[in-house]
Parts: sequence; C-alpha cells; structure tokens
Amino acid sequence: MIKENIIAIKQELPPEVKLVAVSKFHPQEAIREAYAAGQRVFGENRPQEFAAKVEALMDLDLEWHFIGHLQTNKLKMVLPYADLVQSVDSQHLLDAVQDWGKANGKVIRVLLELHIGAEETKQGFKEEEILDILFRAEKYTHVRFCGLMGMATHTDCEEDVRADFARIADFRAYLQDLFPELTDFRELSIGMSGDWRLALDYGATIVRIGTAIFGERQY
Ligand SMILES: *Cc1c(COP(=O)(O)O)cnc(C)c1O
Repeated sequence: MIKENIIAIKQELPPEVKLVAVSKFHPQEAIREAYAAGQRVFGENRPQEFAAKVEALMDLDLEWHFIGHLQTNKLKMVLPYADLVQSVDSQHLLDAVQDWGKANGKVIRVLLELHIGAEETKQGFKEEEILDILFRAEKYTHVRFCGLMGMATHTDCEEDVRADFARIADFRAYLQDLFPELTDFRELSIGMSGDWRLALDYGATIVRIGTAIFGERQY
C-alpha cells in the first residue's frame, strides 16, 4: 500500500511541491518500501528515533527533515544529519542552534514555526516574535532562514483550516517583501494527511504527510 499511496499523492502534487514522508512511529522497513517507490525525503519528530533511523538507513541516499519539538540537549542527535529543521519554535532553541552550528562549522537550514492552530498546546512563534528574529537575522551566522512551517487547527471545518493557511501564507509574503535580502526565505511547509490538498491552494512548497502514506501509527 505504501507504494500505491505515494504514487497517488505524487500524481496530485505539483512537481515543485516537496513531499516529506512522515515516517515517525513506523519501522525502517516502511521507509525502505517508500524508497523503492521513489520517495527520498523523510520527516521524523523525535530526536532518538530520528538518529536511529538515519543510522540504520545510511545505505540509502535520503534527505532528512526534523519536524518535532527539539530540546537543546538533543541537538547533537539531530543537527549533524538534518537537511532541514522545520520546527524551530523558540528563541532559546534558535540561539542554541546558532551556537551548535558555530561550534561545529555547519550552517543549519531552518524553518520558523508559526503558531496558527487554535490549539493552545501547539508550539510555535507569534508573528511579532518572528519579525523580531528576522530583523536580527544577520546575527545568526550559522542559521539559514528558509521559510515558515505551520500546523492548521485540527478540525473538520474547512473554513477554519483555510483561515489558518491564509494567515501563514500572507505572513510569508509579507516577510519576503520586508526582507528581500533573505533570498532563501521561500518555503511554506503546510499541509498534512487531512489537509494537504487545501494547503496547495495557499502556495505550500512542502507538505508533510504521514498517515496517508504509511497508515495509522502504532503508539
Ligand atoms: C506527524 C506530523 C505530520 C504528519 O501527520 P499526518 O496527519 O499523519 O499526515 C506532519 N507534521 C508534523 C509536524 C507532524 O508532527
């Protein structure tokens, strides 16, 4: 099924939109199956699991995205291997990523996570916090700001989801106008299994899809 799911999703995705297959809680065999279907980009949200899978799948040519909450004491499990950290959600984490990058001679590509969902528990910055960071962007010599990530409200109400996506899409456009010098700031990572088709209407450049590829997760 994994193969069929990937092929069906890819048929609907515009070619310029990157599909991140979210493999969290699924075994490495599932990733190998997706790889055999042509999938190369995978996302994980727990540092330990991320590092273990990177290690176990070294023989494949994969692009790894980290999409979960990252504690600063776990950076070394993630930053050496991540092609993109999608979920930078606090000033404290951003500062730690900068310090780690500087100490290890690596420029870390990140997305800033904007809090758009109605849920209070969802992590992310407020708009003004992101503005404040980007006004000081040059201070972050070992961070490359590549765009925004967001999770829409978890609801069947399409209008609410559209409102969340419109908000983050508008904010990205606003930031691109305000900071034209940030030439890498162009990604908009929105859309999951339940709402990725809607996300395309708002200019998603990355969709993060788990369940619709791999099936239900076994927690
Ligand atoms: C788990 C997860 C996804 C994928 O969710 P599905 O609904 O299974 O597609 C996407 N983004 C983030 C940040 C996640 O944690």
